[in-house]
Amino acid sequence: MIVDVAINKPLWKTLDYEVNENIECSVGSIVEVPFRNSIELGLVLGIKKKSSGQYNLKKIKKIIELSFLNKEQLELLNFMSSYYCCPHGITATLFYSKNFFRKSLKKTYGYQITASLNNSNSEPKAKKKNIIEIFRQKKKISHEDYKKFTNYEKKIINDLIKEGHLKKIISEDVNDSLENNNNIAKDIELNLDQRKAFECVMKDKNSFKTFLLYGPTGSGKTEVYIAIAKQLNQADKQVLLMVPEINLTPQLEENLKNRFESKHVCVYHSGISNAEKKKNYDHVKSGKIKTIIGTRSSLFLSFKSLGAIIVDEEHDDSYKQNDGCRYNARDIAFYICKQKKIPLLLGSATPSIETYFKYLNNNISILNLPKRNLAKSSKILIEQNTGNLESLYKSKIEKLFKENKNIIFYVNRRGFNPLILCNSCKSTINCKKCSVNLTYHKTGNFLLCHQCNYKMSIPKICDFCMSKDLVGIGDGTQKIEDELLKSFVPEKIIRFDSDEIKNQSKLKLTIEKINNLDGGIIIGTQMVSKGHNFPKIALVLILGSDNALFSSDYRATEKLMQELFQVAGRAGRELNFDSEVMIRTKYPGNEIFKHLINSDYSKFLEKNLQERKSFNYPPFSNHVLLRALSKNRKDNLDFLGQALKFAELYKSKDIKIYDIVPCVTEKINGKYRHQLLFQFERKTFMVGFLNKLVKRLNNCKTKSTWHLDVDPKNLN
Ligand SMILES: [Zn+2]
Ligand SMILES: [Zn+2]
Repeated sequence: MIVDVAINKPLWKTLDYEVNENIECSVGSIVEVPFRNSIELGLVLGIKKKSSGQYNLKKIKKIIELSFLNKEQLELLNFMSSYYCCPHGITATLFYSKNFFRKSLKKTYGYQITASLNNSNSEPKAKKKNIIEIFRQKKKISHEDYKKFTNYEKKIINDLIKEGHLKKIISEDVNDSLENNNNIAKDIELNLDQRKAFECVMKDKNSFKTFLLYGPTGSGKTEVYIAIAKQLNQADKQVLLMVPEINLTPQLEENLKNRFESKHVCVYHSGISNAEKKKNYDHVKSGKIKTIIGTRSSLFLSFKSLGAIIVDEEHDDSYKQNDGCRYNARDIAFYICKQKKIPLLLGSATPSIETYFKYLNNNISILNLPKRNLAKSSKILIEQNTGNLESLYKSKIEKLFKENKNIIFYVNRRGFNPLILCNSCKSTINCKKCSVNLTYHKTGNFLLCHQCNYKMSIPKICDFCMSKDLVGIGDGTQKIEDELLKSFVPEKIIRFDSDEIKNQSKLKLTIEKINNLDGGIIIGTQMVSKGHNFPKIALVLILGSDNALFSSDYRATEKLMQELFQVAGRAGRELNFDSEVMIRTKYPGNEIFKHLINSDYSKFLEKNLQERKSFNYPPFSNHVLLRALSKNRKDNLDFLGQALKFAELYKSKDIKIYDIVPCVTEKINGKYRHQLLFQFERKTFMVGFLNKLVKRLNNCKTKSTWHLDVDPKNLN
């Protein structure tokens, strides 16, 4: 018997291997095969009597697991490989992890309190005391949770074990204790709109239908998700609840975990250990787990009886994968729901333009959730960007502090100054490996490249003209923090960006600090706009959003609008709370701000759709980027030139070919980047053309590495 195997290498073909007649093998099996000088894992995609041309076939080394992928998963794999133009072997790795089959895969473990801890008289240090307190409350904690809660204090846990206060246990025992969580939070009664939305989805629970749950932040979308999941779980159906970035939304995770019996719910994302992943994978396959909260990768679990997929914050760009198979998780969720004939529920306060377009074409039903509890809408003010911040807002800030209300400063750049300029020759200090300028970070006192993380100390003189007159330009989060510290005490200022919050425990701590804030300022980047529910926000001040108004990427205004609406939605979530959103801009007359003032996101989308229609941009057409990367510009230009020549053979009204251009960030990490954009009228033509193009490109001799990005989210 001959089998067709896709191995995890960037090969555009599958390979034939021989299997002895007495060995059982099936399509979808994971196997070990010899490849060049090593042994690789592969996925069996086909079985045949005769090889299609290879002689001296090698034999399969071992069958690792029979039929690991089921028929539906194989269908999905084939679709993705063909649609996104990604080799089968690479696409297959979405469906399994090498680590799943490692014998040495460690059992997950945890820690349990022993009797001696209760009687301990010693005076432990503060940190240790906190950890002991956690154990006193919980009795048993998995290693995962220990890491999460405590920033992984390795020494303390080892000491506690050595001292006999704790003992190590295997994870099954940890879960046994958790299985009896009797304190499941009570269900909240749905309001009329929530109930209507819930009933609409449940009415179609046995067919493929897409819904958009459209409601502003704080309108109670999560309650609808929970109600749907619970009802389907009761009928023994699984529900996948997708979130864009689970590490940014621990509140949601905690909320959900408190609402379901913990043995029936799991999280699935890249932040959990391999052993935990495998365990969750198996429990989803067996049906033991009924609700899964996960990121992109959870789409590729093997579900026993999936009943619905919910995609929260469906507009978020994090759903798009940026390497390997460049898929969009929201679109794959659509495929899976169609395949399984189950409902798909998308949720957002700021739906993507593609989703809204589908609604206008009657392919999606909208379920509206108006703002809850008659909470007052924020007043939105657009201000000319003049004068310094301090004098303008000091009186306002002090007044709010007196009322114990909080303020968000939204600044979309981290660091201190985004740019260091030489005052005499006007050149900027750039990264040696990327075509971007370095950002000055005052904390730590260095210059940093936000593309490749190259770090250097601040030079004393300009490289070009030797002048000493170097100045920092622009305001990053650290600069704003610095300015505010001149007027206010540090306890009142909290910075919320990726430099400050590097791990989950720091995030947890900061959120706790914010929850206890009584009259303070949170300075944050995009991170503050994502799903967090901060209390008592009476003013949101938006700074430095002007760049996006003039981006070359036609998606930029949509992204900016989503960001502005999301961050504005943080204000005044409490009842009877007056709040303001203030935007400082050099261009107060820009139309985009009018939509914001009127809180009319749908109007903005309709306007934006008209613009896109006039250029025939997506969603009226389909875009595909061919990108080339090399240390030499010429390699890229030669390679893309060949692609262009090939594409021109297919010139018709079905395809528009743009010029070869350098990417907006032309160089990253020492490599030049160039791209060629195609625009297609019809998807069927697109898929056919791309598959021919890939065959041609594979025969090109080039030093450039290249990839295709179908439905790109980022044209830079
Ligand atoms: Zn200079
Ligand atoms: Zn760099």
